[in-house]
Amino acid sequence: MIIDNQECQELKPLMERKAIYPGSFDPITNGHVDIIQRGKKIFDKIIVGVLDNPKKTPLFSTQERVELIRKTFEGDPSVDVMSFDGLLVDFARRNKVNVVIRGLRAISDFEYEFQMALMNRKLASDIETLFMMPSLKYSFLSSNLVKEVFQLGGCIKDLVPPLVEEALKKKFMNSKK
Ligand code: ADP
Repeated sequence: MIIDNQECQELKPLMERKAIYPGSFDPITNGHVDIIQRGKKIFDKIIVGVLDNPKKTPLFSTQERVELIRKTFEGDPSVDVMSFDGLLVDFARRNKVNVVIRGLRAISDFEYEFQMALMNRKLASDIETLFMMPSLKYSFLSSNLVKEVFQLGGCIKDLVPPLVEEALKKKFMNSKK
């Protein structure tokens, strides 16, 4: 079958390679940004899924976490941000995506991530988990550590996007009032 150029253009959107990058993102750090940038080299679209988990009490509300990621990737059509609750595999199916990206920092992440990936495979064998490693300089970084360091007065400048640092300042100023 010969496909001419115009037909090829029309087929392109149908073949868009998408992946979901799920997490708490409370808040987004440069480690998360690093993984999204790496994911973009492989996929046309990264859907960042912000978990709305009623069991956790995050510092930032779901909407605030979504907004911080949206603003970080403002103007980048290859990154979509949405919140979800319930099972990750259901969220993936609703969005017709069959690849889930997870970041792997150190060995400490491995056991939990391994369990989750295999459980998700059990629930939906058509969905694959892809692990990606961040740059070494972010491999010690977590949202929790950023919040702790910030609260204790440490510098987090190179660890989060500038707008996240601003949001943390506001959050902790308001909580002191
Ligand atoms: P979760 O509660 O799902 O672990 P997080 O926001 O902590 O949510 O992390 C989301 C994903 O990003 C996870 O796969 C986690 O391993 C990964 N991740 C978090 N911080 C980093 C980092 N500094 N470098 C690479 N991956 C990271």
